[in-house]
Amino acid sequence: MKIEIPEFALVLLVGASGTGKSSFAARHFRPTEVISSDAMRGWVCDDESDQAATPDAFAMLHALARTRLKNRRLTVIDATNVQPAARKSLVALAREAHALVVAIVFDLPEAVAVARNAARAGRDIGAGVVSRQMRDLHRGLRGMRSEGIRYTHVLHTAAEVDAVTITRTR
Ligand code: ATP
Ligand code: MG
Repeated sequence: MKIEIPEFALVLLVGASGTGKSSFAARHFRPTEVISSDAMRGWVCDDESDQAATPDAFAMLHALARTRLKNRRLTVIDATNVQPAARKSLVALAREAHALVVAIVFDLPEAVAVARNAARAGRDIGAGVVSRQMRDLHRGLRGMRSEGIRYTHVLHTAAEVDAVTITRTR
């Protein structure tokens, strides 16, 4: 799949844990373009997996996204973004800055995500968590256009994810 992204945009990576968002971000975007909720947990408390740090981490994520968008920098949000409320607050930041919002959805089979998470060191993400995230994702998928997301690209398999090319448009 060829995905076109405007040079100035807010890109939301959307998908359950283990679906490959961070790997995709590292492959296609510059490190400074990507704001990750896990990295933010690390910044605020030295522990990327500390769930108690989530409110602080997202406050920082929003602040940094707002600042980058004010400076008209392409900004990629590497968080699960499966809940409409999480996307809405980010879309609102884009609207403030007149940035287009593009979503890339990692709608991979649940078994793939569960197996990958099981193989990850230093992570303990249960099948129940993934299953809930998948349910949230599927419930909200059709409403994304009305949330203010201009383009939504849905990837269904690891092969599709690996075949993506991204071009930036003016
Ligand atoms: P989280 O939401 O928990 O941060 P994530 O969506 O960012 O998860 P990644 O960390 O990118 O997921 O990937 C999870 C695991 O799957 C990693 O161990 C990674 O090596 C593996 N993985 C990611 N993308 C692919 C791929 N395209 N093909 C094979 N394995 C992959
Ligand atoms: Mg990740």
